Amino acid sequence: MNLSKKIFLALGVGFLFGSLFNYLDLFQNKIFLDFIEVPGSIFISSLKMLIVPVVFFSIVSGVTGLSNVSTLGRIGTISVLLYLITTCIAITLALVFSNIIDPGIKKNIMEVETFIKQETPDLKNVIINIVPSNIFKAFSDANMLQVIFFAIIFGITLNLISKKNVKLKEAIFQFNDLFLKMIEVIMYIAPYGVFFLIFKTFLTQGFETIFELGEYFFTVLLVLIIHLFFTYGGLLLILGKINIFKFFSKMKNSMLFAFSTSSSAATIPINLKTVEESLGVKKSVASFTVPLGATINMDGTAIMQGVATVFLANTYGVDLSLADFMSVILVATLASIGTAGVPGVGLIMLTMVLNQVGLPAEGIALIIGIDRILDMTRTAVNVTGDATVSCVVAKIEKKLNLQKLNS
Ligand code: ASP
Repeated sequence: MNLSKKIFLALGVGFLFGSLFNYLDLFQNKIFLDFIEVPGSIFISSLKMLIVPVVFFSIVSGVTGLSNVSTLGRIGTISVLLYLITTCIAITLALVFSNIIDPGIKKNIMEVETFIKQETPDLKNVIINIVPSNIFKAFSDANMLQVIFFAIIFGITLNLISKKNVKLKEAIFQFNDLFLKMIEVIMYIAPYGVFFLIFKTFLTQGFETIFELGEYFFTVLLVLIIHLFFTYGGLLLILGKINIFKFFSKMKNSMLFAFSTSSSAATIPINLKTVEESLGVKKSVASFTVPLGATINMDGTAIMQGVATVFLANTYGVDLSLADFMSVILVATLASIGTAGVPGVGLIMLTMVLNQVGLPAEGIALIIGIDRILDMTRTAVNVTGDATVSCVVAKIEKKLNLQKLNS
């Protein structure tokens, strides 16, 4: 059985047993829950362990492979623009569909548990913090924008001295190969990791809350699917001239990983490998667009925020004006730039959006119960968006190997 099938099977079995035991109210004690948390957490840590070295060595190898530094500027500009445009489309779709479906519940607002407000990032600091003042801290915090920045400068400088330092350049390529191979090694435990992550999620979640918040849940799901197939499908087809069936079938592993871990950051190593080796994007583009996307591009998250805003406005009986909708689009797009792709961060960013339109952040407590499951699905969309933009940029820059993609 190939790895994708094993992972898919693990996901299905984890889901079945988790839901069944939840329904029968079995194994709900702390000792058992702690016990099954161990393999899943080890799996996520082993993925996270690879993020910084994989990103660093890929970017340096990619940049040293570019003949011209201005190409990098162009790749950067097109990717950032595409990331911003797709996020704006995502949130607009969310607002349009949630206005049509009009989700909301009648619940005594006083009943909800209190949601603890968290600090939200502010854009000025996000921009200043792109440049690390201490590279060791940037590496140890796995601060992606800082690691990307340093890797680019490192690659450019290495190019300048590469005639004298051929060995250093070769060593970088070898380290890059080593860490890409390490991803394959970690993939062997993936089916077990995925099983335990999914099993625990469904063992502790249950389905009652989904039905209670059905309108909200299914509106988010519907818009995620529309965005996946129409926005990404359209971009791939029109700008990339890419066979979307091939694209989605090759994205299986990345999407499954994102779904199981709920973290686009933890999925960077796998997504980078998929985009380079299966989708045929050259390293000079993929090494840069994929980690950048995992940090600044979160379309699925923006969709949840759009639907949640309308849902909470309906629930609190607040009318949102066109100006409110415009500011939701702006704030949700900006908020996605400033936050790393880790589980549940979308809800923290939602406080920013709600503040903007005068809705109480405490409303988040209403939807927190089903957020874990939505987080899984929106993270799968987030990483697909990164791969889509990567393919389109590669196509525009003539750095896409269509033969590899279509093989
Ligand atoms: N978990 C998402 C991601 O990693 C972010 C979120 O929506 O909470 O992309």
